[in-house]
Parts: sequence; structure tokens; C-alpha cells
Amino acid sequence: MHQQQHAVKVRLDRFVKERLEPARERASAPVRVAAWAVPGEPVPFSEAVGQAYEPVEEGHAWGRAWGTVWFKVSGTVPSEWSAEPGEVELVVDPGFIGEGAGFQVEALVFDGSGRTLKAIEPKNDYVRLGLRPGESFELYVEAAANPDVFTSGVRFAPTPLGRYETASDAPIYRLGRVAVVQRDATVWELVQDVATARGLALELPEGSPRRAELFTALDAMVDAVHPHDVHGTAVAGRKALRSVLSAPAARSAHQVFAVGHAHIDSAWLWPVRETVRKCARTFSNVLELMDADPDLVFACSSAQQFAWIKDFYPELFERIRARVAEGRFVPVGGMWVESDTNMPGSEAMARQFTEGKRFFLEEFGVDTREVWLPDSFGYTGALPQIARAAGAGYFLTQKLSWNEVNKYPHHTFDWEGIDGTRIFAHFPPVDTYNSQLTPKELAHTERNFADKGRANMSLVPFGFGDGGGGPTREMMAAARRAMDLEGSPTVRIAPPIVFFEAAEEELPSRPVWSGELYLENHRGTYASQARTKRGNRRSEALLHEAELWAATAAVRTGAEYPHELLRKSWRTVLLNQFHDILPGSSIGWVYDQVAKEYAQIEADLEPVIAEAVAALGTGDEGFVNSGPYELDGVPAFAVGAKRVEGAVTVELVDGSTVVDNGEIRVVFDADGLITSLTDGATGRETVPPGQRAGLLQAFTDTPRQYDAWDVDIEYRRSGRDLIAADEVKVVEDGAGRAAVRTVRTLGESTITQVFTVEAGRAAVDVETTVDWHERQTMLKFAFPVDVHTASARSEIQFGHIDRPTHTNTSWDEARFETCAHRWVHVGEAGRGLGVANDATYGHDVTRHARQGGGTYSVVRQTLLKSPLFPDPEADQGEHVFRTSLVPGGVAEAVRAGYRLNLPLRAASVGSVDPLVAVDNPAVVVETVKLADDGSGDVVVRLYEAHGARTEAVLDLGFTAGGVLETDLLERETGTAAVTATDAGSVSLALRPFQLVTLRLARA
Ligand SMILES: [Zn+2]
Repeated sequence: MHQQQHAVKVRLDRFVKERLEPARERASAPVRVAAWAVPGEPVPFSEAVGQAYEPVEEGHAWGRAWGTVWFKVSGTVPSEWSAEPGEVELVVDPGFIGEGAGFQVEALVFDGSGRTLKAIEPKNDYVRLGLRPGESFELYVEAAANPDVFTSGVRFAPTPLGRYETASDAPIYRLGRVAVVQRDATVWELVQDVATARGLALELPEGSPRRAELFTALDAMVDAVHPHDVHGTAVAGRKALRSVLSAPAARSAHQVFAVGHAHIDSAWLWPVRETVRKCARTFSNVLELMDADPDLVFACSSAQQFAWIKDFYPELFERIRARVAEGRFVPVGGMWVESDTNMPGSEAMARQFTEGKRFFLEEFGVDTREVWLPDSFGYTGALPQIARAAGAGYFLTQKLSWNEVNKYPHHTFDWEGIDGTRIFAHFPPVDTYNSQLTPKELAHTERNFADKGRANMSLVPFGFGDGGGGPTREMMAAARRAMDLEGSPTVRIAPPIVFFEAAEEELPSRPVWSGELYLENHRGTYASQARTKRGNRRSEALLHEAELWAATAAVRTGAEYPHELLRKSWRTVLLNQFHDILPGSSIGWVYDQVAKEYAQIEADLEPVIAEAVAALGTGDEGFVNSGPYELDGVPAFAVGAKRVEGAVTVELVDGSTVVDNGEIRVVFDADGLITSLTDGATGRETVPPGQRAGLLQAFTDTPRQYDAWDVDIEYRRSGRDLIAADEVKVVEDGAGRAAVRTVRTLGESTITQVFTVEAGRAAVDVETTVDWHERQTMLKFAFPVDVHTASARSEIQFGHIDRPTHTNTSWDEARFETCAHRWVHVGEAGRGLGVANDATYGHDVTRHARQGGGTYSVVRQTLLKSPLFPDPEADQGEHVFRTSLVPGGVAEAVRAGYRLNLPLRAASVGSVDPLVAVDNPAVVVETVKLADDGSGDVVVRLYEAHGARTEAVLDLGFTAGGVLETDLLERETGTAAVTATDAGSVSLALRPFQLVTLRLARA
């Protein structure tokens, strides 16, 4: 029997390709095409329409990489056709290379008034004309010569295509067939019937009666359709398949909720400006398909993408708004972009939601209830609490299916964050966000679903992403055929919320996954494009400072609060946290632009900070402390005088340099490496016997694939310790500081480090200046620590996470590179070391056998990665990294993290009292701002930072007229943390890592 089925398949496939597919067109006629090449960057329709167009023919070479050509297409439907308006279409092949959607030429069709009609993509290359025979048309097609960065030549090879300037000027596309055609809808439907019947048959077991029945029917279909008269016999072909396609699904069939979607990366292998056009093309397609097919529901996740359409395609935006009102074009996720979640800082992660949700509320009146992050590279353990605080109860991703080693045990479960907050989570078992609803994908969904037996439904996002154009009529046809079909999961097209509510009800008692959702892949994204990482961290700090001081000035002096400028700056930071920008996986063009945008943020916000502080202060000069902890005598969130007491001594002992300030004693050897680091108070040694700390290490970094994304465990076999120093020099500046300066060479690169000890403080501050010219080389900075510990703590948003330092399980072993925010800490009871940073995210922490027994830990920062793909210039040039080593516990590490990222700044005034103050170091005020609604209320966001239940009093430097606990959107919620209030203070009781937002009216 098997042989027979194989024969049917071979016969069928040839018949479909040679007879059925060509017969989807009944007739075709030529059109006139003329072209105008845009001289530089894209222009709007209004500018393109009046240009001089030159006639062109099929085969015309057009479009340098990243160039744009407008084609004017005109023609007449032949009057001899007997065609209904619904059958007449324009088909355009601008020069497609293969069928890869989204990674090559794309086009958008406009009518003569500038209204967008539909995009032209591979596998979606038509525009319905709605004309009768004899009627004429004239349309404009904006064709983008986007190069295929990914698959040009060898995959992952360095490419000049990632920047406009380095790409060649030569045309990369040739105009293909452009024609007006008459469709044969019956043949088209028959092709869809065959796709379903054939695809389903191939997914069924070989001995299955259903499989045999499907093959028999397909064989009969070929018999029924005459190869020389497909148009005339297609009805008979459909009849041959009718009974097998109308057999109902099994009672126990898996239930698929299909959601139209287009995963459009906000920048990646194209610049942001191209994403704007990709969105316009895809959304135009979606609206067109909605007109043609009343069943289509489309979910779109990023407020930023709607905002682009509002700004650049207002007419299209109004049509989207109408479909949103109908519930068919569905905003989901509620974030500004589908951001990375590992690296965005605490407040930025919150703002992803507040900016996104506010946009959806203001523009559409829609309050989204889910987190939609199908593609981000792992998910922070802080996310459940942040999502709940933003009003979301559901979370979706499929990215964990990319794990290299371990498979997550569930597809539907509760995800518990570091503070204990739980959120309903779903991983679509289809393992893609670009499904075409093929029988193969549907069968995989059912087979793969891990929670069967207790639950039986899943979500499938369908549609071509990244400019591929979103859902197609073929996908809608596939969905319709699988609604109730024997052997297949059932398919129902629905908005995501319908799935989430049904799945939650189906499985009321769910298994729990606690902690982060670590992606065992793309671990290099914590380090690639180090300058962008620094720009992100710096911009987050500037926004914190600008909001704090502008709010303080508004309350104290009545100064105007720069809502619009802050919002604009936030939106730029949030966009650049997109999951291919901040992670370092985009082309060079993207990073050139990002650098300019971060510079603009600095230029915009520095004056805001300076002017606010100047307006507030009295006296001559002092120091601004924008951080939540006192710094060198300046209180938190205040301006005051700096007081540093004590002295630092430097001695040379047996060729070693001993730096001592009474709080800490550091011994540097002749190589400038730290052989001893002892705590002045306890005399405890931090460096393990026989080890040296502050060691730079270089590794060969040539991942198996995805260079900028990945670091593979093999890197560890290639380590070189950078021990030899060109220079080791003691530097004493006489102002209560002493430093050891080292200079080392690696290949063409120079690394200058200054290890500083300041009077009165138990810390070693390291400034590392790198002039980097290495490629495919990873630079790490290592600190062996004499503690025996099973886990390391890393700061994440609003708290920290514990990760094992051992490799007991495959999960632990695969977690060999991790992300931390401002610090990592390893310790035993009563001792430990915090390693803080000002711009580094990548870390690894390992344990090793110790001379004399036990184990010690090694904390390493990943400073640079310098991959070649997709940006061959990644990480070249100068970098500065600041690191602090602080003996002690988590409390000291938290404090050191803020100190490095919000250092004192000199002020032109001597004294400003803080707007708020907390009496407990475990409770940290992360943000002080004015309310987004313009009411003038003061918003204070704080959290418990040590991981322990605690109480605190927030003292107010102004008279409060009332205190509300709110969600992130500053909407009142029930009381969770506030225990008492009066006009001058708020008493709080917090659970470990609890996040609290307070809204304080001004009396
Ligand atoms: Zn993506």
C-alpha cells in the first residue's frame, strides 16, 4: 500500500505544479510600466507622484541596495474578457529572488490619490482591481530594493550590505512580469483543497485508514480534472475531494486558536526607517484581506509600530482605527516595542508597558491584558510582577523552543517571578510565530503540546513576518478547511484574549515555573555592540535624573515639568531596547543611528537636569546626588557638600604595591594584578590562595552560527590570560586617592586600567579604557573570590536573582553566560564580594577547586565580543568600562551599583533638600516623577531590594494631600504596602522584592 501512496503523491505533485497552479489564472494581458528612481532616502507618495517617469520593460535592472524605485503601472482590462470585477487582478513581480518573504524586495501599491491598496510580496503578489472588461487603471508601486543581508553568499559571512555607504551602487533586482490577470477562483480553491488533503495525509501514520482514504481521493481528483481543460473540470476535481474534506474532527482533537499576525522586527537586517515601510505594507495587506475575508482577526503588538503609521500614513491609520473598533485589528501586548527583557533597567521595563498601554488607551480605548513577546531572547524573573503591575494577566512567547539543550516541560503553566507574583503563561507548541497553518504545522502543534491529558488548546500565530506581508488568503483557506477536519486539530480564528480566557478556564490549576525563563541560546547578546549597551544604561540614568530634578523643581518652585521632552526621550530609549537593537544583533546602519539618538538624549536632558538643580538651590557650589543612597556625605536625592575623611597609604613591599585606606587593603603584584584584597574591618581575605584578581582574559569567539547573537561553550577552551603589562605605575593624586595604572597590549589593541582606592570607602574602583581593534575576540575581566557558594546573585529589574554556580543539571550547565544589571554578588554567610559595573550586562560565574580545600568562585564580566556578522565593525574603537569591587553582602552590592551608575555631579548650587527620603536601605526609591496625566501629582516608585520582608517610612519633603497606591499606569489599586500615612510621611510594609507605586497629591 505504501508504494501505491508514494505513486499517488508523485503523480499528484506533478499535476499540481504543471496543471493546477498555472490554471489559477484564466487569462492575462500586458500593462505599461514607467519608473522613477528616488535619488536618496525614501520619499512620500506626494513627492513621488509628480516626478518624471521613464518607460521600462520586463528585465529592467533597478534598485541599488537600500534604494527605492517608484513604478507607475497603467493598463486596461481587455474588453474581450468575460470577467467579473472580483476576478480581475494586477500581479507584480518586481524581481523576487526565491520565495523568502521579508528579506528581499518588497513593494507597496498606491492608487492615484495616494491611498495604500496592498503590498507586493513573494507569495502575495497581487492587487485586486475590481474592474470590468474595458476599464482602465493607473497605480503607483513603491518598490524597496532591500538586499538580503542574511543569505547573501555564505550565511553569517561579514557583509558590506549592512550600511548604505558600504553597499554597492549596482542594481540588485530585475523587473519581472507585471500583468493584469483574470483569476479562476474554482481552480484556486481546488489548489487549497489539495494542499490540505495532501498535507494532512502525509502527517498521518502510514497504516492509517484516513491517510489511505485521503490518497485515494487525491488520486480520484487527478482523474477528474482534465489536464487539457483544467478550467472546465476543476469543479469535478473539488467534488472528488468533498467527502474527505468534510469528515469531522475527532472529539479529542487538539483545539487551535489561530491569530493572524506579522512579527515585524522594529529594526534588524534593515534600518528603522525600513521597518516603518514594512509596517505600512503589512498593515495595508491586512486591511485588504479583512475587506475580502470577514473572518480575519489580526493581532499587532507594538505601540511604536502603530505610532509610526499614525505619523507617516495617517489615512492608513484611520482605517486601522476603524478595524480596531470592530475588534478585528487587535492591539496586543501593551508594550512600546517587543523589547529585550534581560537588559532594560527597572524603570525602563515598566515604561515599556506604560508607554505602550497608554498609547493603546489613548488612541483606541483598548486596555491590553497580555504580554506578547514571541521572539525576545529570554525573560527576566522580574517580568511577572511588572506585567501584573501593568494590568496584564497573560504572557506568551515561543522563543524557548530555541533552547539548545533543555526543553521546558510545559506549554501552558503559571510563571512565578522573583517576588512570587504569578502570571498565566503560554508557549505556542507550533514553535513559530510565522505559521502558515499548514497541516504539518498543525500536526506538530498537537504532537508537541506538553500538557495534553489535562489541557487541549493552544494558540498559533499565523502570517509572514518582517515585511513578508502577514496573513494571506491561502492561510485563511487553510484555516477554514481545518475548522472541523478528521485527523487534524480544529482551527478557530480568534483574538488572543479569547484563547487566554478559554485556556485559563480549561486548566484552572496549573503547574508552576519559578524564576527567569532563560533562553539557552543567543547568550552573546548581553555583550555585542558594547557602545549601545553603554548608551542604554547612560540614557536610563539621565532620564532618572531629569525626572527626579524636574519633579523636585516643579514641586518646590512651580517650574514647568517637561512632559513632552521626557516622553520623547523615553520613547527613543524604549525603541532601542527592541529585541534586535539593544542585544547587538542588527546591521551597522542601526547602530550608527542609535549612537546619534543617545547623543541627542544627552544633549536634551543635561540642560533639564542643570536648570532644575540651579532653580532649586541655595549657596555656591556642591554636589548633586541623584541616587537613592547617601554618597560621600551628600544625602540621597539632594544637593550638598561632599565630605571624605581619612587617607590612603601606598607602600612597596617585596615588589608588591600595597594600597590601604583602613577600610580595605589591596595588594598588587609586579604584573599589576590583585593578589590580596582584605576588608579593613574584619581582615577577611577575598582572593583565594594562589589566585590573582582583576585579570583580563581574551577568548576566540567564532560561534557555530549567529555570530553577534551567540557565544558557544567552546569559547572557554581558547582563553588567554593577559598577564604581561607594558606598564604598571602607582598614581597618587593627593586628594585622598591612590591608584595603580596598568597598560596591556592584545594584538592591535591597548587596554589601560586604573585601579583606584579612595579614602573612607571599602571599594576598589576600576576604570578600563580599551582601544579595540580585535575581531571575533571576547574580552573578559575576572575576579576569583574566596567564597564557597552554590549560587550567585545578579541584579535584575526591581531585585536580584539567584543562579547556581555549579553544573549539576543540564539546565545549570547550559546557563553558562548570564545577564546582570548593575552588580553580581557571591558570598558566604557574613562575607562576600560584589562586582558592580556601569555598562556591562554579560557575566559568568563559576566554581573551582581551592588550594587547601573547598571551592572558590570566579566572577567574570564580559566586556567586549566584537563579532563580524551582521555588523563587521561591531565594537571597534574606544570603550570605557567602570567596575567596582565591594566586599560585603547584597546591601553593599546594591549601593555600589547605584553609586557607579548615578555618580555625584558638581553643581552650581550648594544645597537642595530631597523631595523624598527612606529610612531603610532595603527599600529603594527607583523613580520620582510627576504623574503622566499632567495633574502635578508626585509619583514615587520603590521596591524591596534585599530579598527580605521589611518595613520603612518614606519621608516627604513636601506636604502631601493624599497618598494612593497605584499600578504602573498610575491608576489606583487596593492597598498592598502602605500601612499608615500623614501629610509628611508614608509607612510601608513590603514583602521580598515587592514593587510599589505611590501617587502623592500635593496639598
Ligand atoms: Zn524578532
